[in-house]
Amino acid sequence: KKKLKDEIYEVNRLAALFYHRYLYSKFGQAALKYLYDRGIDDITIKRFGLGFSPPSGLELLKYLKRRNYNTDVLVSAGLVSKSSTGSYYDRFKNRVMFPIIDEKNNVIGFGGRVMDDAKPKYLNTPETVVFKKGKTLYGINYAKKSKEDMFIIVEGYMDAIALYQSGLDNVVASLGTALTLEQGRLIKKYKNTVVISYDADEAGIEATMRGLNLLDELDLNVNILTVPNGKDPDEYVRKEGFDAFKKLLEKTDTLIEYKIKKYKQDLDLEKPSDRIKYIKKVCKDLATVKDEVKRDVYISIVSEDAEIPENTIRAEIDQFVKGFL
Ligand code: ATP
Ligand code: MN
Ligand code: MN
Ligand code: MN
Repeated sequence: KKKLKDEIYEVNRLAALFYHRYLYSKFGQAALKYLYDRGIDDITIKRFGLGFSPPSGLELLKYLKRRNYNTDVLVSAGLVSKSSTGSYYDRFKNRVMFPIIDEKNNVIGFGGRVMDDAKPKYLNTPETVVFKKGKTLYGINYAKKSKEDMFIIVEGYMDAIALYQSGLDNVVASLGTALTLEQGRLIKKYKNTVVISYDADEAGIEATMRGLNLLDELDLNVNILTVPNGKDPDEYVRKEGFDAFKKLLEKTDTLIEYKIKKYKQDLDLEKPSDRIKYIKKVCKDLATVKDEVKRDVYISIVSEDAEIPENTIRAEIDQFVKGFL
């Protein structure tokens, strides 16, 4: 007898194929147009196995039952739900479908996007025995094979897909904003360097800050790419082009640089109390910089910004270093 996990992988794969074929049927025209309008081409659609779920909410269920799959398995996979009256229906209806594939090439779940402003914008597979929120990275199946010793981490499906289509092959999406320890470990398993490229909105900046601390603690080299004008990477490459994004990739901030910038934005260095906060915060960060040349460069910057002698900064850093012992 097959294990439940393997049965779920099997029905998920069939569902992905079903949604993909449905996208290219006469019933999928609006969804296909939606993807084309967003700049996604057929090759990319195929590469990511994108699809469309029928509006009726009965078709997938019918299709899989005809193939003798047990309704219980479909419910366990999160493809089918039970209504309060006891009848069964497809979880995903009238949505553009994004199969989520793990590092072993198993289809573990789906994200489905509405094509208008309805809510929720994205609906994901619920927690199942194979799909655990925050344990996977969208695109890992491709990104792990990249020759670059680096992952670019973005927030959303469309960010990852748009960057792949422009020519990058090492992008993963954390699917939502909060990066988890499990995702960090998954990254570390394959690569040593990460570039965080989250949305340039408040939630994205907040998540970048949390994410970079987490990744730094896992001993990854962390860099931050800031997309200008509040856009996300998908919007940015589509509007400004791939070369512009490549330039941003060459101008990423290191962890310390990003933090220094952020502190300066949040604080008013004209105010003595803010200046003190700034110095204390930066010194705490600088205490973790082991490379002396790098540390000296940052010390001179902070000394100028805050208008205090370098020696005072050094003394403050030493305090924090001692504190760690
Ligand atoms: P799009 O470009 O398609 O409008 P987006 O990726 O830019 O979407 P964001 O609001 O920036 O959308 O969200 C980033 C990611 O967070 C999404 O790709 C999706 O994985 C996840 N997400 C967003 N909204 C929801 C939601 N309502 N439920 C579950 N996940 C969501
Ligand atoms: Mn966002
Ligand atoms: Mn977007
Ligand atoms: Mn976004």
